[in-house]
Amino acid sequence: MVTAIVGANWGDEGKGKITDMLAETSDIIIRFQGGANAGHTIINNYGKFALHTLPSGVFYDHTTSIIGNGVALDIPKLFREIKEIEEKGVPTPKILVSDRAQMVMPYHVLLDGYEEERLAGKSFGSTKSGIAPFYSDKYAKIGFQVSELFDDEESLKDKISRVITQKNVLLEHLYKKPLLTVDEVYQTLMEYKEMVSPYVCDVSAFLYEAIKQGKKILLEGQLGSMKDPDHGIYPMVTSSSTLAAYGAIGAGIPPYEIKKIVTVVKAYSSAVGAGEFVSEIFGDEADELRRRGGDGGEFGATTGRPRRMGWFDCVATRYGCRIQGTTDVAFTVLDVLGYLDEIPVCVGYEIDGEVTKDFPVTAKLKKAKPVYKVLPGWKSEIRGITKYEELPENCRNYIEFIEKEIGFPITMVSNGPGRHEIIYRNA
Ligand code: GDP
Repeated sequence: MVTAIVGANWGDEGKGKITDMLAETSDIIIRFQGGANAGHTIINNYGKFALHTLPSGVFYDHTTSIIGNGVALDIPKLFREIKEIEEKGVPTPKILVSDRAQMVMPYHVLLDGYEEERLAGKSFGSTKSGIAPFYSDKYAKIGFQVSELFDDEESLKDKISRVITQKNVLLEHLYKKPLLTVDEVYQTLMEYKEMVSPYVCDVSAFLYEAIKQGKKILLEGQLGSMKDPDHGIYPMVTSSSTLAAYGAIGAGIPPYEIKKIVTVVKAYSSAVGAGEFVSEIFGDEADELRRRGGDGGEFGATTGRPRRMGWFDCVATRYGCRIQGTTDVAFTVLDVLGYLDEIPVCVGYEIDGEVTKDFPVTAKLKKAKPVYKVLPGWKSEIRGITKYEELPENCRNYIEFIEKEIGFPITMVSNGPGRHEIIYRNA
């Protein structure tokens, strides 16, 4: 059975923790989109980890971790990550890399940085991991698949030459930076080949057999609905689809095999990068939530930069869950809110004097002002509680109010970053 674990919001909802937790009883965990531009923070018996490319199921010795064809694969970063976890005592994971995955090239990373520099104040707030140039090249059909590393030297050099001719025009005239050479790029690719060779696999064929054998498979999404290029806050989105539906394509499995879609929703809001964020808060209020948030503050797992903070947004989350095709909501980081006397929740957007609960397109979103309902806080520590009924009444009211507003069942409540800090609930 295939389960997708995805985010309803701007990312950083705690998908890593939920994936790590569900991986305990799963066989295969697959990354199907995105690259090393976002991180999942995981805390377990081996320590604290920030994973960027590896799937969050990598900590068990019974799991197979897969980099699907939809991923922007940065080979040196993948290998650094494998080394890092091994150094912390995690058993060498079983990893497979799709032969159809495409590689982030060194010039993608350079071009990402140069473009952000050029845009200056109008930049996207990219993590400069090369993701936008990577996906641009993929769809412009000038990307490099892992399988091409095994092509003969002449064909590969010929393709490199064609591709870098175009890149060098940009480097010379737009960015005024050093140019690329065929030999240098070829050499880099040969280094990548050596690193990746033992792991390369026809992933969709492997998964076809695994599904037939009834294996339990997880698809791990990166970022969240708001960052989807089609359904999110375009253009302040990421460059690959963050939706569960894309899991079928980015892993190479039939769409109808995805039986469960666990959408991870955080009990308050945070976002990184630029873009509309209606329930954003500022000043001391934001600083305090940021400091207390997550498992040691809301700071980017990849960049360390402070995340933008906000109250829970029912409008964005209802839409975010709908567009994911949610079957279950995992409601996370609820323990963090225990310090508040009152908790505002955004229940509507006021646009041109009218209040709506429907999430609008970006042009209208710019004008939206949050309409809040203020709920009473529970003023206590809820970590350690394992039964839903034992949560304070105001805490249950907060969960149930949000569940009603978003219209999808909250079947899991996460009240701490640890692997087993979870309360299951029959909604
Ligand atoms: P992801 O990208 O969706 O996996 O999310 P991140 O890893 O970027 O951010 C989630 C952060 O919240 C991580 O630091 C987690 O350890 C932490 N976290 C996850 N669930 C909980 C929870 O229920 N309570 C607390 N306090 N922290 C949590």
